[in-house]
Amino acid sequence: MALSKRGLKSAPAATSVKPLALILFGSPGSGKGTQSKYLVKWLGIPQISTGDMLREHIRTGDSIGASVTDRMKAGSLVPDELVNQLVFERIHQPDCERGFILDGYPRTLAQAEEMMRVLKAEHAEGVVIHLVVDYNVIISRISGRRVCPKCGTLYNAVSRPPKVDGVCDLDGTALVVREDDKEEVVRQRLVQYERQTQPVIEFFRTSFSRSNGDRLVEVKANGDGPETIFERIKSELQDLVQG
Ligand SMILES: [Zn+2]
Repeated sequence: MALSKRGLKSAPAATSVKPLALILFGSPGSGKGTQSKYLVKWLGIPQISTGDMLREHIRTGDSIGASVTDRMKAGSLVPDELVNQLVFERIHQPDCERGFILDGYPRTLAQAEEMMRVLKAEHAEGVVIHLVVDYNVIISRISGRRVCPKCGTLYNAVSRPPKVDGVCDLDGTALVVREDDKEEVVRQRLVQYERQTQPVIEFFRTSFSRSNGDRLVEVKANGDGPETIFERIKSELQDLVQG
């Protein structure tokens, strides 16, 4: 694959700071989106979401978008080569020169192996952050959600209960559980996430232990507010942002 040589350059010799390739893993309900935003702001590097990129291609209806739509209609996955190519084109844009944050990638072992090759070739500093959560906490929180089918107001059995159990405060309509919030659906999504992601994280754990500088950080992401969790992430990465 011919890679553009723009972007991902090492910083000027005086600083010898390597570009940062930050890969973020977190299950549904782990607060990954919030932590990703904090990281973008703190590090001043862009976040790259493969989901967003694919949706954008589908929206504009270009050849990539058309091929993705066809595959999705056929119920098959987007091939690794296509996702890899999208990511590599993106990380060679000038705004990624100092680094980037990957969200939703790599998702398969083949993607992870390709990413590892790129990290080595580009002399980038690889950092994997895994937001570790207690699935039972997520299940009870999400399955506690209720919504008013009339006005759309959201409630939560634990954190935001309605004044009268099961009834909307604003219009008295009976609250319902959204399909996506049903306990069985949430549980299934978490099982799927675990099955897909755990081998990829283990791959980085093994690869990083053999290389220099790269690190895998596991951060407890349950039971505290997002700012506290972000402080934990920062303390693990502090040395990377010096100088
Ligand atoms: Zn209502």
